[in-house]
Amino acid sequence: MSRKPIVAGNWKLNKTIKEAIDLVTQLKRLISGTQNVEVVVCPPYTALGEVSEVLMESGIHTGAQDLFWEEKGAFTGEVSATLIKEAGARFVIVGHSERRQFFQETDETVNKKTRAALAGGLTPIVCVGETLSQREGGKTFAVVGAQVKGAFAGFSADQMGRLVVAYEPVWAIGTGKVATPAQAQEAHGFIRKEVGKMFGDEVSGSLRIQYGGSVKPENIAELMREPDIDGALVGGASLEAAGFADIVKNAGIAALK
Ligand code: PEP
Repeated sequence: MSRKPIVAGNWKLNKTIKEAIDLVTQLKRLISGTQNVEVVVCPPYTALGEVSEVLMESGIHTGAQDLFWEEKGAFTGEVSATLIKEAGARFVIVGHSERRQFFQETDETVNKKTRAALAGGLTPIVCVGETLSQREGGKTFAVVGAQVKGAFAGFSADQMGRLVVAYEPVWAIGTGKVATPAQAQEAHGFIRKEVGKMFGDEVSGSLRIQYGGSVKPENIAELMREPDIDGALVGGASLEAAGFADIVKNAGIAALK
């Protein structure tokens, strides 16, 4: 089953509006003509509108880094799918490990946010992944399996068919310690199998699963060669246009093979 690779940049709490515009203006030039990879940048909310405008008709999409599940009301500080879409975004990251770690997100809130994103017409990028102690304790599959079951509990096959999963081992995020292609493939294969058990082979076969954790221009190609790795969610290396453009280009070349 052919799956178009997807490379997304998660800028986290970085970039003023001006810096964001500079970055995507360069990026647009550097990756113009790249066709076999879907590209997404996820700036902070404050820059989402301007960045989306710069990228209009460039083929590069924008995404938010989080959302709230309610549509509107007395929820100070929160942002809904509708507001994100109005700002020009098509994607939204849900359940990033930093949100799980620092903002008490659980599989239950990830489930509610993912539903809200889909209902609001956004494509959620749903993050799962184990910590170092969980991996060392032999609990990787139990943890990731529970995250997958929790995130997508009660979903229809149609809902599941409209989202992206990112496998991000927490020990590889921002540490420079990338999972080996074999480690990543093992987890991706496991996730696809679990999704297959829940939703059937057609849904699991077309599900795009990104790898995230210290992806760089130098390591993306070997990861992409694995059969169940369909792109990357990139943190640090997405903050600089040339490096992110090289990741996109190398992912595209690897996907052709
Ligand atoms: C991330 O935060 O999603 C991530 C993968 O970060 P980094 O690429 O910096 O490890």
